[in-house]
Amino acid sequence: MNHNLFAIFERRMRTRGDADFIGTRDSRRYAYQEALDATERLAGALTKLGVTPGDRVAVQVDKSPETILLYLATLRIGGVYLPLNTGYTSDEVHYFLSDAEPALFVCRPADRPDAERVATAAGCPQVATLGTNADGSLMDIAEQTAPRTDIVMREENDLAAILYTSGTTGRSKGAMLTHRNLSSNAEALVKYWRFSADDRLIHALPIFHTHGLFVACNVSLMVGSSMRFLPRFDAEAILDELPQGTVMMGVPTFYTRLLQDERLTPELTANMRLFISGSAPLTAETHREFEQRTGHAILERYGMTETNMNTSNPYDGERRAGTVGFPLPGVEIRITDRETGDEVPKGDIGMLQVRGPNVFIGYWRMPEKTREELLDDGFFITGDLAMVDERDYVHIVGRDKDLVISGGYNVYPKEVEQVIDELEGVVESAVIGVPHPDFGEGVTAVVVPDADADIDEDKVLSFLDGRLARYKQPKRIFFVDSLPRNTMGKVQKNQLRQQFRDSYR
Ligand code: ATP
Ligand code: MG
Repeated sequence: MNHNLFAIFERRMRTRGDADFIGTRDSRRYAYQEALDATERLAGALTKLGVTPGDRVAVQVDKSPETILLYLATLRIGGVYLPLNTGYTSDEVHYFLSDAEPALFVCRPADRPDAERVATAAGCPQVATLGTNADGSLMDIAEQTAPRTDIVMREENDLAAILYTSGTTGRSKGAMLTHRNLSSNAEALVKYWRFSADDRLIHALPIFHTHGLFVACNVSLMVGSSMRFLPRFDAEAILDELPQGTVMMGVPTFYTRLLQDERLTPELTANMRLFISGSAPLTAETHREFEQRTGHAILERYGMTETNMNTSNPYDGERRAGTVGFPLPGVEIRITDRETGDEVPKGDIGMLQVRGPNVFIGYWRMPEKTREELLDDGFFITGDLAMVDERDYVHIVGRDKDLVISGGYNVYPKEVEQVIDELEGVVESAVIGVPHPDFGEGVTAVVVPDADADIDEDKVLSFLDGRLARYKQPKRIFFVDSLPRNTMGKVQKNQLRQQFRDSYR
């Protein structure tokens, strides 16, 4: 049996024939059969360019339907798909090409001169281009080359993709994902979220990240449903798409921005059956506000590059605000003490570990790091702190690396942020640990105030006094216009720690 993920997709794609696969707002459209034919031509082009099974294909291009066809063609010929964040500079791309040693680098047409220089320096033998209008040298070669109609045999544990982590806590790591990692997770999500061929997914996420690429596209391909591809989040465009959509996947900032628009109503979202959020914490407040405004309870789930999705709020049961729900079928979790590694009692906070067919096989060319985080019994140390409540819902408390240890006490930033956010005039906050001569780390809050708020450091501090134990209260409060976030809406606490590092010196 061929365990190639594409073999599973292909069976489904054939049965969907003329049904929509991907459509864009500028009226470009691929029906399933057309998409399938295009993967044959692109597979021919990749082969012509020298890609053989096991080879990496590095891709840094703007979002388009053809990018997904390139992903599928890479799988088809047994290659390893390696998407790169479109925001990476040439220097960063140089690092990734040297690290991953791809056989081919596909870049934007306008980047070609630069990309060729970088590829040569990094030892990558071929460069091709792909634009957003079905243009570029890759498409030209695909037109002129014999298509490949075969699907290369793959074992369950053969690599399908290398995806670099977001780099929130340090340098991005290449997570090696197998055909089984991806197929098992897509199958689990289809069932859990009740995907069917009738679904129409509003897709405004980037496709170089696990959320927009694997969660959104693999789930759609598994059932043969359709996707509306938006180049990026644009409230205007989303509001226009909502009446025809059935599902949207977004990061929390999608939801906070939609809430700022008066046109978001139950009528506008009447055709929608599901709103999903992930990649960063959705506040309980946003969850509640969205439900009040639309009647839809956002379904929050939790995952990471290394593991695909791990937990999800239920489809039918209560979607509990501020939680990430239950482990998906086939996924096991355990919560362990930071120091001893022993499992902690229910209700206690500890390190979240996961095990299942979704968990990656290691970091690309980082054997030591792989050994540290992927345990002998198959559990992976996620680096997130979590708690399981009395009804078995999982709460993500924050990242272990963001934990503040002040005067020997553990301070969980989320707990402090939640209280600060209750104060009138506060939009949001981030709590970080900053070097402190007496306490080791000083609890420090960075607060975004409402434009017209009458608020200052003393007001915040006196609000917290009595609401939080003394050791959890920030020593300093700083005000900023907005928190630094990356494309996935993740707050860049590293940057904040850097910015405020001298606060107690
Ligand atoms: P790096 O590993 O390079 O530092 P990263 O962890 O941000 O970057 P990703 O794999 O994109 O890279 O993100 C996974 C992380 O995102 C999780 O470990 C978790 O901290 C966070 N995350 C994802 N979904 C949620 C969620 N629903 N609630 C809270 N945090 C989430
Ligand atoms: Mg990570």
